[in-house]
Amino acid sequence: MIHPDYEMVIGLEVHAQVTTESKLFSGSSTAFGADPNTQANNIDLGMPGMLPVLNQDAVDAGIKLGLALGCRINRKSVFDRKNYFYPDLPKGYQISQFTLPIVEHGNITIDLADGSTKNIGVTRMHLEEDAGKSVHDFGADHHSHVDLNRAGIPLMEIVSEPDLRTPEEAGEYLKKLRSILRFLEVCDGNMEQGSMRCDANVSVRKKGVNTFGTRREIKNLNSIRNVMRAIEFEANHQVDVIENGGEIYQETILWDANKNETRTMRSKEDAHDYRYFPDPDLLPLYLTEERIDGCAKSMPELPDEMKERFIKDYNLSPYDASVLTLSKANASFYEAVVDDKNDPKLCANWVTGELFGALNKAGLDIDESPISPEQLGELVAMITGDIISGKIAKTVFEEMFETSKNPKEIVEEKGLVQITDKGAIEAIVDKIIANNADNVEKYRSGNDRVFGFFVGQVMKETGGKANPAIVNEILKEKL
Ligand code: ADP
Ligand code: MG
Repeated sequence: MIHPDYEMVIGLEVHAQVTTESKLFSGSSTAFGADPNTQANNIDLGMPGMLPVLNQDAVDAGIKLGLALGCRINRKSVFDRKNYFYPDLPKGYQISQFTLPIVEHGNITIDLADGSTKNIGVTRMHLEEDAGKSVHDFGADHHSHVDLNRAGIPLMEIVSEPDLRTPEEAGEYLKKLRSILRFLEVCDGNMEQGSMRCDANVSVRKKGVNTFGTRREIKNLNSIRNVMRAIEFEANHQVDVIENGGEIYQETILWDANKNETRTMRSKEDAHDYRYFPDPDLLPLYLTEERIDGCAKSMPELPDEMKERFIKDYNLSPYDASVLTLSKANASFYEAVVDDKNDPKLCANWVTGELFGALNKAGLDIDESPISPEQLGELVAMITGDIISGKIAKTVFEEMFETSKNPKEIVEEKGLVQITDKGAIEAIVDKIIANNADNVEKYRSGNDRVFGFFVGQVMKETGGKANPAIVNEILKEKL
């Protein structure tokens, strides 16, 4: 929330690490967690005379992402040198794509809370190499160290148009982009490990104004939550400055997650500060039609397509469908619960409501669920088959989550099978009516609300096991 007279303008730059075995221009391994400097060869170290060789898997990943985002795939693109000094960049330049990126002009459809969708433009996606890492270990020796394992790891930089207007939209954009990357299996999307990082560009303007305000860029945010919090804080800060007669300058800033505030890192550099020029060691990248077609043929079903299919085939609401297709694991769990036979809507309720809620509370991933899809499907079938009531099912579910037992077993053990025998229910109803003459009188003289009292008594008497429809029917009859 910001000042009601203002609106936020947000554009995101995402760096996604491409899941390749080797680096963008060398044969070094990209595996996570190795000892420092054990995965950096002469190319990554920037030794004179070394020649980069382009990783073709990273190129295919770029083409697939471009196709998934509806981008134009450039038949020719170019690798440029972006020159700057930093201890973790021994070459003195980063190889990136500046003038001609591999793909551009696409979009990402985000799902909004009210069930509607919004298209966010993707300006471009280019391939570039990552830098190394400086480790400032101010322990006993007061030294800084450089780890070059990450130097040369392939990244895709995905730049959005300034189309986002709220922190929530930015969060949805990142969620959708991450699920597209994961469906394509081109990036694991793990923000905590740094395989997906985000810079957020934020400006504010008075509502009704058509031009953009000056932006500040928040660097290297490592969770969706932090992206949203940082944007919120920054937008409010900018409004404060403007309302107090101040001015916003284009700057690069850092988010301090502990203090919950942004602070200036440096004034913003411009493209010309980097003296970009085409890397003379690398030829332009030409893509053939065969290659692009080949990538197109190998594309899996994507989140938006799967969402449409869930809406159509399972009759789900757009909201349920988008929650269930956020990850392949969610989607295949759900489809296994339905298993071509269970009520899809009821299954969606149990998966997105009960199951996701319990997993969340226990801090578990869906593939660590103590309840298998088959077991949850069985539980749903017991509800639709009138064997247990929805209410009892919740108790059974809790027990299943605790013990991983089958629902049938729990229901038998605890004697929870629903009472559908009319004679048995009638007998109970008769007894209750006989014992509550005053309430019967009230009901008969027009107080409909007393009906609930009778339903409650029957449920109490039967431990919640009486079939509610039959109870209603018999009570109406007898009262
Ligand atoms: P740079 O390369 O200097 O970071 P770009 O022109 O590539 O600059 O823009 C970077 C990001 O900033 C893009 O995501 C873009 O949408 C966003 N952006 C541009 N202008 C604004 C603005 N006035 N307010 C918010 N975001 C903006
Ligand atoms: Mg930038």
